[in-house]
Amino acid sequence: MADLKYLNTSVGGHCALELINTQEMVNGVLTDRLQDDAAVITWVEQTFMLKPAIAAKALNGDLLAGVLELRAILQRYLSNHQLAKKEFDHLNKALSQFKSYQQLVEKVGGFASQQRIVLDSTEALIGLIADAVCDLIALGDLALIRKCESDDCVLWFYDTTKGHKRRWCSMATCGNRHKIRKFRAK
Ligand SMILES: [Zn+2]
Repeated sequence: MADLKYLNTSVGGHCALELINTQEMVNGVLTDRLQDDAAVITWVEQTFMLKPAIAAKALNGDLLAGVLELRAILQRYLSNHQLAKKEFDHLNKALSQFKSYQQLVEKVGGFASQQRIVLDSTEALIGLIADAVCDLIALGDLALIRKCESDDCVLWFYDTTKGHKRRWCSMATCGNRHKIRKFRAK
């Protein structure tokens, strides 16, 4: 497996799929976690484990729209594994705003490098999310990018299990519901 930069331990297993998972079913209703810029910042902090510490003035009001556009592009890509020219260009433009640099840090017995991400503007923040989307599209294995098998669930995940047989967003919710239904059907 290629080395994906944005794998994590969330339900989606990858930051870009967590972007998809900002929409989820709550009591049978499709609910969107990204309602405004503040919600986007909270989501970024949790998903990328960062403290963006973006001054309110650095946000020009286009954050939510920009992030939703990236989510829509990724959603379409997941459904047909293609990018329209317009989407391809849009992604590359967003990526060009991503700002990061390496810093040398000390560790026991030597040195290591650490990536620092600069989040000083709306565009830079959108650039970070675009970087995660690019990581998934360029390096992700399509066979491992899957939607939860439950028809009532819209969550996606990157299957990093050993046997690659993961079927559910979570065993505690969808997996368990499936088990109960199978049991009742007997
Ligand atoms: Zn599910």
